[in-house]
Amino acid sequence: MRKKIVAGNWKMNKTYEEALSLVSEIDNMLKDEASGDVTVIVTPPFPYLQSVGKLVQGNDKLHLAAQNVSEHESGAYTGEVSAAMLKSVGVEYVLVGHSERRQYHHEDAQTLYKKMKAALAQGIKPIFCCGEPLQERDADRHFEYVGQQLKDSISYLSNEEFDQVVIAYEPIWAIGTGRTASSQQAQEMHAYIREQLSRMFDAEAAFNCTILYGGSANPGNAKELFSKEDVDGGLIGGASLKSRDFTDIVKSF
Ligand code: PGA
Repeated sequence: MRKKIVAGNWKMNKTYEEALSLVSEIDNMLKDEASGDVTVIVTPPFPYLQSVGKLVQGNDKLHLAAQNVSEHESGAYTGEVSAAMLKSVGVEYVLVGHSERRQYHHEDAQTLYKKMKAALAQGIKPIFCCGEPLQERDADRHFEYVGQQLKDSISYLSNEEFDQVVIAYEPIWAIGTGRTASSQQAQEMHAYIREQLSRMFDAEAAFNCTILYGGSANPGNAKELFSKEDVDGGLIGGASLKSRDFTDIVKSF
């Protein structure tokens, strides 16, 4: 059985106090309320990782992720944060290839591959994000587009490395727009991604890979999305900033 995951991507939101309140609320709700066999991940901004990580440590269900990692090991890279640094404060997962990083920080496929390698070398699991812009969807080229993103970054990993990777399908037109992909659109793409992965690696590895959906997921649509065979959870932006909404999504399986 592959792992079910719900990961909250806090992006550039919350002050330090707000971040600590949010994670304590999530921690309490997960302890008090039955939430099944789901791995729950929080992804705070860099300055809060260590403090949020300490709270997360006391809860088996809760795990810590970073929003970014440097592709470099160490040294003269002002402003960057290495995988070893993340590891040393308890980070277990890291987002790689989020569309906002691809767009605003010009991270290309080769850089994303190097970031995954850097994380994997420290035992940190990459959550590799992919997804098409609206014009590719409208031109019916979305499968080709996402297939190419996987080919350009994921296909260069070894089988052992790939086993540690989580994939997140996030159609760009659905991120922060309130326009979710239908569960049918998500399922079709997830099945396509799994098929591509089985060609790059093998059928068993592809079957075992957790594939998350991201893009305006909320407590109202999560149940329907998660009911699909190849949708193994969600990467949640806006709705992860409210403890009630986020834990309701966790309980949607
Ligand atoms: P959203 O963001 O849930 O606010 O659409 C998802 C993401 O960007 O990971």
